[in-house]
Amino acid sequence: MPGEGKREKAFLGLGSNLGDRQSYLSAACRELAAHPSIQIIQASSLYETEPVGYQEQGWFLNQVMEMETTLTPEELLFFTQGIENELGRKRLIRWGPRVIDLDILLYGNSVINTPDLIIPHPRMYERQFVLVPLGEIAPDLLHPDGSSTQEHLDALRQRGNSEKIRLFREYNP
Ligand code: ADP
Ligand code: MG
Repeated sequence: MPGEGKREKAFLGLGSNLGDRQSYLSAACRELAAHPSIQIIQASSLYETEPVGYQEQGWFLNQVMEMETTLTPEELLFFTQGIENELGRKRLIRWGPRVIDLDILLYGNSVINTPDLIIPHPRMYERQFVLVPLGEIAPDLLHPDGSSTQEHLDALRQRGNSEKIRLFREYNP
């Protein structure tokens, strides 16, 4: 049965760059919170970030959420992909940019490397739009490599990352 595993802390990265971005983020958040085996602990503010790669698409809204869950990492991925499909199918223009992206950033202290699931998320240490909101809600969190979020963020900035990011809306429960 899904959801009968050990309780673990997990962090998810949410992103949207199409349509009513804020509504997609809050719809995803509602669906996560409605799962009986997921408890939302904290949500970051919303940040607006310049798209990496294709410049002709709109800026992203990004947010990071902390949760506790008894779902396994694979069950959590299955559930978040279901939310992506459900929200995407409603209003998505064929071949358009995706309205919602849900990435599992961290799952407890686990390191996972399978064809379908890599944790910590493979690109999170290169992305300010992950590390800035994560640093807002969990600056002292220790990652599987033993470094904190703040240390990862400092290291990224020292490498000269110039991705543009700005606070869009402070989290206000
Ligand atoms: P991206 O988020 O890198 O822009 P997608 O959202 O399209 O790309 O994800 C593509 C695939 O990444 C998914 O089918 C999933 O199997 C895989 N994947 C690997 N690790 C993760 C993770 N930690 N969180 C979410 N998806 C992951
Ligand atoms: Mg993704």
